[in-house]
Amino acid sequence: RPDLPSKCTWQLGADPATNPHHRQCPRERLNLSPDILHEIGRTPLVRLNKIPQSLGLKCEMYVKCEYFNAGGSVKDRIALRMVEEAEKDGRLKPGGTLIEPTSGNTGIGIALVAAVKGYRTIIVMPEKMSNEKVAVLRALGAEIVRTPTSAHWDSPESHISVAQRLKKEIPGAVILDQYRNKDNPLAHYDTTAAEILEQCGGQVDMAVGGTGTGGTITGLGRRFKEVNPKCVIVGVDPHGSVLGHDKEEDVEGVFFEVEGIGYDFYPTVLGEKRLKDDSDRKIVDKWVKTRDKPSFLMARRLIREEGLLCGGSSGTAVWAACEAARDLPEGSRVVVVLPDSVRNYMTKFLDDEWMKDHQFLDVGEAKHGTWWGQ
Ligand code: PMP
Repeated sequence: RPDLPSKCTWQLGADPATNPHHRQCPRERLNLSPDILHEIGRTPLVRLNKIPQSLGLKCEMYVKCEYFNAGGSVKDRIALRMVEEAEKDGRLKPGGTLIEPTSGNTGIGIALVAAVKGYRTIIVMPEKMSNEKVAVLRALGAEIVRTPTSAHWDSPESHISVAQRLKKEIPGAVILDQYRNKDNPLAHYDTTAAEILEQCGGQVDMAVGGTGTGGTITGLGRRFKEVNPKCVIVGVDPHGSVLGHDKEEDVEGVFFEVEGIGYDFYPTVLGEKRLKDDSDRKIVDKWVKTRDKPSFLMARRLIREEGLLCGGSSGTAVWAACEAARDLPEGSRVVVVLPDSVRNYMTKFLDDEWMKDHQFLDVGEAKHGTWWGQ
């Protein structure tokens, strides 16, 4: 990937001419939107009123509802930013082709931006990712290539390798590369984090987010720590992923169903494999490892008890936040990112039969409307 820097670096407090933080605020709110791309960002921050309280937590917990974005996920923000930056620096030409390896949401974001701006999109996605995401991608006009979930990231069959092969075959095609593109964390530094700080009047004591590329957590973490160096940044990572874990042998062959978080490699955006002084991974103070069953049960509780129509990784993040914030005192404030919507998982964790088949819901256990516990 010669067109991208080998390391995702972005300096704070640099000379304004070279400082990448040129878009300091989220886009303005307009009464009449010129197009749907103006409806990316400015999502609600909503208080949880039942779940943390039921677990005896004393802190306040707020969730950033990223499923309110135009394409339904947090990744719309990076899709728009990465496309616009590629347009500006000439990497992407009118009528060009965008290829992206993704777990689906970045693909939907890019396909949405491409539909509005008139680019061809090819999305390369592991088989594990839901059919709901495929249906939305198709409707947006994207071409889809599926790859085996079990393919190691650097094997020729992986979604990353297949995307690179396609790029070589298609003249003028561009891979924006969310795993290495500085505009991924910057989109969150400049918009998601800025919005949360404004919504919270500057007080964030702990921020919790699932990690895929790591763009959300490093973008938020950098900005929150500038305002309050004591703000605790919590990364959330499933058992079976190497992101919050140093021992690759411990994750070998461990499968997890939650989509969008956890990898078998360290994305450049998240930092180096081993901690180094300048690593973005140092932004994360604490890791919480998670499992599928409590994640999906928590996502169902968020829907049933708080009315939040979120996806599975939102359940993972809130479950982890409740673990991490257990000892926080009254008056402290935790912010958790809800990355996407239940729309992506209608035939998965929302479906009782799917839950039972995967042993996430015991046979004879309650249907919607009843408390399942953890
Ligand atoms: N949850 C879902 C559903 C996602 O699609 C993603 C993005 N892959 C994440 C969480 C993690 O976001 P990030 O890539 O910014 O770490």
